[in-house]
Amino acid sequence: MQIIRRVEEMKAILKDNKETIGFVPTMGYLHEGHLSLIKESVKQNTFTVVSVFVNPLQFGPNEDFDTYPRDQEKDAKLAKEHGVDYLFMPEVSSMYPEPLGYDITVKQGADVLCGRSRPGHFDGVVTVLLKLFNIVRPTRAYFGMKDAQQLAIVDNFSNQFNLPVEIIGLPTVRAEDGLALSSRNVYLSEEEKKEATYLSKALFNGFKQFQDQHKSGTIIEEVKDTINQNTNGNIDYVEFLEYPSLKGVSSSTQIFVLALAVKFEQARLIDNIIFTKERILNRFERKDD
Ligand code: AMP
Repeated sequence: MQIIRRVEEMKAILKDNKETIGFVPTMGYLHEGHLSLIKESVKQNTFTVVSVFVNPLQFGPNEDFDTYPRDQEKDAKLAKEHGVDYLFMPEVSSMYPEPLGYDITVKQGADVLCGRSRPGHFDGVVTVLLKLFNIVRPTRAYFGMKDAQQLAIVDNFSNQFNLPVEIIGLPTVRAEDGLALSSRNVYLSEEEKKEATYLSKALFNGFKQFQDQHKSGTIIEEVKDTINQNTNGNIDYVEFLEYPSLKGVSSSTQIFVLALAVKFEQARLIDNIIFTKERILNRFERKDD
C-alpha cells in the first residue's frame, strides 16, 4: 500500500488507468463500518482508494471539526491490512490551496433531517466529493446507509451531473447491542453507550409497528418516547420520509426511511433504517441507468 499526501501525486498515479477503481471516502478513525465498505470495494475492483480527510467545509462554526477523532497511524495499518492500494490523506491546504470561488448549494433533500440541523453541511459534502471524485476518478464509490441522507444526496448529485461513477450504498454495521458504529462513539461515556442502544431499538420497533399497521401514524412519537424514557440524550429530530427522494411519505411510497439524530454530552449520533413494506433494505444502488 502507498500513502499519498498530495493531490497531484494521487492524480498522476490514477490517470491512465484502465482498470476499475473503487473509492471509499471517509473522515478516518476507521472502524468496522468503514471496513465493510473497503472490503466490498476490494472485492469488486482492481484498485481500492480510501481517503481520510476531515473536511472543514462540512462542519458548522460550532461543530466538532477540531475535536473530531483522528488516528492516521491506525487508519493506515487497518487500510493496509484490508488490501487498500492507495490511502489518500491530504492536508487541508492541498485540497483547498486557495479559497473556493464557487458555491455548490444542495437544493434537493437538504431541508430535512441533518440538512435542517446542520445548514450548509451537505454543500460541504458534495463540494469535497466532487473534488475527490475528480482526483481519484473512481469507477465505483462506496457509502454507508448509516448516513442515509448523504447517500441519497450524493446519488442524486452524481446522477443529475452525470458524474461517471457508480454510487453504491451498503448497510449500517452495528455493534452486537445494536449501536451503529461511528467514529464519534468514542466520545460517549459508558452510561451513554448503554443508553445509545435505545436509538436502534426505537427504530426497529418503529419498523415493526409500521409492518403491523402499514401506516406511519404514531411511529415518530413512539420512537421519541423510547428515546426520552431510556436516555438522557436530546432529540434533534426523528423523521419518517420517502427514500431516496427524502420527501414526505405518500400512498405511492415504496421505500421508507426512519431516521433520527440525538445529542449526547459530547457526541451527536445519527441512525436510521431504510425499508419497504416487507423488509429492511441492506443495499442501495441506482438501477435505472
Ligand atoms: P465518515 O468517516 O463517518 O464520514 O464515514 C465514511 C463512510 O463510512 C460514509 O459513507 C459512512 O456512511 C460510512 N459509515 C460510517 N459508519 C458506518 C457504519 N456503522 N456502517 C456502515 N457504513 C458506515
